[in-house]
Amino acid sequence: MKIGIIGSGGAGMCAAWLLDEHHDITLFEKRNYTGGHTHSVEVELNGQKYIIDDGAAWFSPSIYPNFNAYLDIVGVKYDWLPLSLTFYNKENKHANCMPPITARNILKLFTQKDTLRQLLALNKVVNASEKLVAEHETSVDFKTFIDGVSLSNKIKNGFIKPLLSGIWGAPFEQTNGFSIYPLMKYIVYHKPSGLQYYKWKTMKGGTMNYIATVRNTLRQTQTVLNSEVQKVEYDKDGKVVVHTNDERYYFDKLIITGGARDAGMILKNSPDYQRASDILMRFKYYKATLATHSDLSFMPPDRRDWSIVNVTFDGSDSFASIWHGSKTNADIFCSYINAEKAQPQDLHHVSEWWLPCETPEFYELQKELATVQGVNNVYFGGDYTHDIGSHEDAIISAIRAVEKIDPASVRLNKLKKAASIFKG
Ligand SMILES: Cc1cc2nc3c(=O)[nH]c(=O)nc-3n(C[C@H](O)[C@H](O)[C@H](O)COP(=O)(O)OP(=O)(O)OC[C@H]3O[C@@H](n4cnc5c(N)ncnc54)[C@H](O)[C@@H]3O)c2cc1C
Repeated sequence: MKIGIIGSGGAGMCAAWLLDEHHDITLFEKRNYTGGHTHSVEVELNGQKYIIDDGAAWFSPSIYPNFNAYLDIVGVKYDWLPLSLTFYNKENKHANCMPPITARNILKLFTQKDTLRQLLALNKVVNASEKLVAEHETSVDFKTFIDGVSLSNKIKNGFIKPLLSGIWGAPFEQTNGFSIYPLMKYIVYHKPSGLQYYKWKTMKGGTMNYIATVRNTLRQTQTVLNSEVQKVEYDKDGKVVVHTNDERYYFDKLIITGGARDAGMILKNSPDYQRASDILMRFKYYKATLATHSDLSFMPPDRRDWSIVNVTFDGSDSFASIWHGSKTNADIFCSYINAEKAQPQDLHHVSEWWLPCETPEFYELQKELATVQGVNNVYFGGDYTHDIGSHEDAIISAIRAVEKIDPASVRLNKLKKAASIFKG
């Protein structure tokens, strides 16, 4: 079959890998690199080179069975990163380092009243959300959920909300409307047990190395960079016609893995895909601006309080700064910034990403989108089509599309078998 794939992020690359052995694939990418939200920045500091992932960076060893199996089959090399978290309140200069494992942080439990109070509050929120997460209950928003938890408003608004908003990278003012399910899923499943940090996977050589490793396996895939798909139509012979600025391509099947709004725009003027386009255009997005920098003012003032993830709250807004230089004690950070408010000094790079607002409506739209999968030979993949939009979800979306297009694919069946072992 001739198969087109729009988008070269994790979902598009995985779909290409699953289909490449038996089909003639064309992969369209509007940017000048493959990878989409898996994006690495090369930074030089004090004569040393660093590769910083300013998009997807960490991958769960426990709740990413398909992705972990895929990494092993393709042969991607990864590292382990013990994840730690600091919540820093700029107003009262209080820093809470979680989990409290070092002697210094254990001592703080006894010497700073806010430290223990916040940890107990977080524990209460975890307990209150466990069932909801296990049952995949997506209809409850943060505000409704937190109103039902017996905690003071001070701790809800001054700790829980800014913490969850900062960890997720959601706009603070929109956090009330987000489903509690995505905000809590990672926390519920990655609670540290005992005196240990929870370890996550990171890619050796950055995520660009992961994408390059997948790309190098492709034999029958033609990748067209700098090629934005403008329009998709269905022709009378049952072919899907893809229009770029320069050319028309004809395919038996097409997988669209750009974000929902990209996909909606591409299909907007095609009557045969009108229903899909209408659904896609209803997904709401927000802009996440990621600055890679060396500006210490974005970190908690006392270096001993630095964690891998550092959420700063100033009373009206919260944002996370990731300490990417932690292994070598280097001052390299990646911060979610509000560009209108404060730009870091010592800037290395800025990326802008669009992420879906994961409200209860987002999850209803996922279900609606499932009803138009495959109509007129077009399939929708990408993180936003499944669960919380993690990299695992991007991979699952590719698997689901390929299950429909070529259920006999050798790689598909190998991957599913290997993933079932990871699932345990
Ligand atoms: C800042 C940030 C941090 C994240 N951190 C993590 C993390 O640590 N762990 C995790 O699991 N997930 C993380 N994610 C989620 C991440 O988005 C997913 O893990 C995954 O990388 C998304 O892959 P995708 O293929 O669905 O989409 P994308 O990576 O967005 O790929 C879509 C591609 O489609 C292309 N495209 C769009 N429209 C067109 C068009 N018209 N023509 C041609 N090409 C087009 C885009 O250029 C893009 O390359 C993070 C996301 C962001 C933004």
